[in-house]
Amino acid sequence: MKIEVINPHGLCSGVNAAIAKALKLRNVYCLHHLVHNEIVIDELKALGFRFVDDIEAVPDGETVVFSAHGVSPQIRKRAEEKKLKIVDTTCPFVERVHRDVRTFQEQGLKVIVLGDREHDEVKGILGELKDHRDPEKGEKVGVVSQTTMNADLVAEKIAALKKRYEVVAEGTVCRATKERQDAVRSFDGDALLVLGSRSSANTKRLAEIANCDTFLASDMNEVMRLAEKLSHYDRVGVTSGASTPERFFESAVRYLSNIPRHVAIIMDGNGRWAESRGLKRGEGHKAGAKTLMEVVRWCGDRGIRYVSVYAFSTENWKRPEDEVSGLMKLFGSMLSKEAATFVKNKVRLRVIGRRGDLSFPLRKAIAALEKKTEKFERELILCVSYGGRAEIVDAVNRAIEKGEKVTEETFREYLYAPDVPDPDLVIRTSGEVRTSNFLLWESAYAEYHFTATNWPDFSERDLDAALEDYAGRHRRKGDVK
Ligand code: SF4
Repeated sequence: MKIEVINPHGLCSGVNAAIAKALKLRNVYCLHHLVHNEIVIDELKALGFRFVDDIEAVPDGETVVFSAHGVSPQIRKRAEEKKLKIVDTTCPFVERVHRDVRTFQEQGLKVIVLGDREHDEVKGILGELKDHRDPEKGEKVGVVSQTTMNADLVAEKIAALKKRYEVVAEGTVCRATKERQDAVRSFDGDALLVLGSRSSANTKRLAEIANCDTFLASDMNEVMRLAEKLSHYDRVGVTSGASTPERFFESAVRYLSNIPRHVAIIMDGNGRWAESRGLKRGEGHKAGAKTLMEVVRWCGDRGIRYVSVYAFSTENWKRPEDEVSGLMKLFGSMLSKEAATFVKNKVRLRVIGRRGDLSFPLRKAIAALEKKTEKFERELILCVSYGGRAEIVDAVNRAIEKGEKVTEETFREYLYAPDVPDPDLVIRTSGEVRTSNFLLWESAYAEYHFTATNWPDFSERDLDAALEDYAGRHRRKGDVK
């Protein structure tokens, strides 16, 4: 699969300006969604934005934001009556359509509006109409269209209207929409991935007009789910709607191009990190647990679906008793403290290893969180009381119990997490360069990246360095090509 970025794509000037204006605000009301994109809307909600669909829902005297799609004159008037402080982010192209409608009417023309009458932009434009009667045959009419319509369809409709009326204007599809549509029409690859929200008119349009199999994804979870399907095509074009954040576009392209699906990490150096600061080893483990949650989030941002970590090995039971009990306590408190984070970030938790070695309350807490998160696509696989040899021995014994003679393919079924693909990349921190009995079967073809950084200090930059290292390698898996 070859990924081809289609240009231009993504945020248009109107949406960009609206978002930039909105990001400076806090705790305000917004009439309708600012732009049709859930990623942006979630970000604004975190800033205290309250989205309402009716101007009456905004208390008198409060601040209200009008979206890039604009509003009708009636809503503007009502906002003034309610003494609302207005932050207007209406796109200049939409404003132009409103102006055109007013000008046509001043010239005594009836106006025909092309578009989806349920769309906020069209509702606003329709509010400008003073005369809703149908024009007579042969009458002079002004025609405007929703700015995000399919430009070809608008041309077709206008040609049809010209047979009945004297048409004096040619629709108002905005330049950004038209350029993005033209780029998609001229793409001659095998499949197209359109990134953006299903509620975004221009995103849906891009998906409709392509000349090849088309897929739509509104977030990274969907991109990950589509990766397998897309891998069957030779040339896959990627574009995005005018309200899709570029960081989502970049994550999607990076994931599909060369991001490993599964990263496994040997989190080494907690003790050394603590000792170098004159702290107890337990403090190092606590700092390491914090880093782990951050790393899971960064991996998610980069579209990595599986993260496996070596949390506690079968050999670690030999450590001093107080360190072992401290680690188990930390593990238990992490499960309860971070449960909401797993759900919020849509991360599935899986724990693999010899669970029978763990206490009953811990096993119960693990099972509860695993159940709660089992439907999520992204996964954190915690290897606890885990050893690569132990896993192989356990698998062999299960096969013997079933009386089955295994092959390399069928043996996988007996591993702790048979449905998880093998790690593509194994990262080890703190300068050690050993595999230390970690995922011995699964990492047979993995690339290794070693860093001197102690695990609690492992940063986003360290992760990117590992991913760049990985992306730069030519993986042949024994082939000579
Ligand atoms: S798609 Fe066009 S009309 Fe809509 S906000 Fe962007 S530039 Fe403005």
